Amino acid sequence: MPAPLSLVLLVALLPACTGAPTCEDSACPSVPECPDAAYDEAVMRADVAYLASPELGGRVPGTEGDALAVEMVRERFACLGLTPLSDAEGYEQLFTDAEGRETANVVGYLPGETGALAQDIVVVSAHLDHLGRGRLGANDNASGVSALLSIAQAFATAGPSARTVVFAAFGSEESGMEGAMAFMDDPPGDLASGDVVYNVNMDMVGSYSSTEIVYALGSFRGTAGRTAVDAHAGDYPELDVGRGEPSDQSDNYEFCSRGVPYLFFWTEDLECYHETCDTADRVDYPNLVEIARLTGEVATELANSADDLRGAVRPDTDVCGT
Ligand SMILES: [Zn+2]
Repeated sequence: MPAPLSLVLLVALLPACTGAPTCEDSACPSVPECPDAAYDEAVMRADVAYLASPELGGRVPGTEGDALAVEMVRERFACLGLTPLSDAEGYEQLFTDAEGRETANVVGYLPGETGALAQDIVVVSAHLDHLGRGRLGANDNASGVSALLSIAQAFATAGPSARTVVFAAFGSEESGMEGAMAFMDDPPGDLASGDVVYNVNMDMVGSYSSTEIVYALGSFRGTAGRTAVDAHAGDYPELDVGRGEPSDQSDNYEFCSRGVPYLFFWTEDLECYHETCDTADRVDYPNLVEIARLTGEVATELANSADDLRGAVRPDTDVCGT
């Protein structure tokens, strides 16, 4: 039975987090508005603060907090003018994970310019979910999502790239990269997984100060990703950028295992990985901004490279993991 109109209006007027268990008045985090510029530290702080707020409960797949996180990303994609998957789907690829939790990937894209490369797809990604039970996942991976949103803003402002660029906030990564798997096994909208030529993934990019290095995992010698990282890392002398090692520890594995080359940007967190101390106040925001900007420049390079990324040597599975 539909709710009475008065109730619908009342609910529509309430802050987005009302209905979450502990959200009250001044404690209620506000949904960040569509920002004016990319790579703005204040914006990225606000995005992390919202996603890692106690009211979202650690963004456990299938919960109200997960739905609020999905809504926040969806609204940002809309205000940035990203193309949705379809009228019916909007920006959401719904799926049920292995634990029976109904959740979603949030996916928007910018079509490539008319030309031979426009069919190619570069997927820029970060996972949206986390673990709950007091673990709010600020670094893991609200940091990566804030970077994803900032990169999407930079691309939207710059105008079309040669290739199509997909921005994906994947669900259910923590339980086994299930959102990325759903994306590649059953691509949403008109997207075809056979058109994906590169994955640029970010997971835990807010803990640079822990070990003073950001890894560009998967940037093997001779790959287009390595060329792009080498071309831009020198612009960030304050960042130590580790290169050349593999990783199977995030959504990039679902691309690599299907023959798609990847870059995986990651900073180690020696103290609070998967712990309750992974909170928004601990994120290294100045370096998060710089890592996001570097990642965005690298993704731009791949999106416009004249090299034949499709015909490039595909990774074999021994470069997919450690
Ligand atoms: Zn993670």
